[in-house]
Amino acid sequence: MGYVANTVLQCSTSKINEMKTYYKNNLQSKLPPGSVFTAKVPGCTITAYRSGKVLFQGGSGQEEAGRWGSTETAPAKSGKPKTNPKLPANIADMSILGSDEVGTGDFFGPITVVAAYVKKEQIALLKELGVRDSKNLTDDKIIAIAKDLLSVVPYSLLICHNEKYNDLQEKGMSQGKIKALLHNRAILNLLKKIEPEKPEAILIDQFAEENTYYKYLAGQKEIHRENVLFSTKGESIHLSVAAASILARYAFVKEMDKLSAAAGFQIPKGAGKQVDVAAAKIIRQSGADELKKITKWHFANSDKAQKLARH
Ligand code: MN
Repeated sequence: MGYVANTVLQCSTSKINEMKTYYKNNLQSKLPPGSVFTAKVPGCTITAYRSGKVLFQGGSGQEEAGRWGSTETAPAKSGKPKTNPKLPANIADMSILGSDEVGTGDFFGPITVVAAYVKKEQIALLKELGVRDSKNLTDDKIIAIAKDLLSVVPYSLLICHNEKYNDLQEKGMSQGKIKALLHNRAILNLLKKIEPEKPEAILIDQFAEENTYYKYLAGQKEIHRENVLFSTKGESIHLSVAAASILARYAFVKEMDKLSAAAGFQIPKGAGKQVDVAAAKIIRQSGADELKKITKWHFANSDKAQKLARH
């Protein structure tokens, strides 16, 4: 028996729920004490604990953990936040092209990815407009700021609708790869748009390790590699990522509003119980095929909704 690598990620409850959904066909019935789920995939056993720790054991553990990025890796025990040594010390004051995505954990609605370019001269203006980490902003506030931003910063928006998403997913593409393809394309589009201007660097709000990101992109005709930096919590590293995040959320909210208008009731975000209830209602209204078109079908919500709809 050789050495078995263990990789541990520290994850939020919503991330663990997302994982459980992702591994829904690989879940094990026997659970270790304190665990939320155990799943087995070729070369790796994944165990999520109520403490938020997720353990990846086995030969492909590290690779499997890479799907989930290091986005929520536990801070170093010393209490000091982990700083990314590759980031320039003055990055907050540089002209940066930032990218971020929204909708990856939501059963309903698309994935939206935005790349936004913020020149150093614009940073003060963006602060004035209220641009900051969108996780701390309400939807109403995000819409108001986004409307200002649209005319201030050059950006590229990509929307991956669920018919496309489900098609890719059923062909075996991971959500991580779908995200990587979208980020790469949004970055390329925006670089073209701002030519001949060049950003001092590109900052991707990190969802996978750097080498995993490029592994996902292998085989693509155009891969942008020059001056690309990765960081978790990118919104707090540079306002371009915060702006990208706000614009991506704005696009997502608008898509959800369209879905709500078509359904005749408010479609909930996320992947919780109220999502199952809304999904069951749509099955009763228009059938499962119609529901599939507007949801990430591999989520466990699809089975739960179909069961609810039968009762
Ligand atoms: Mn992000």
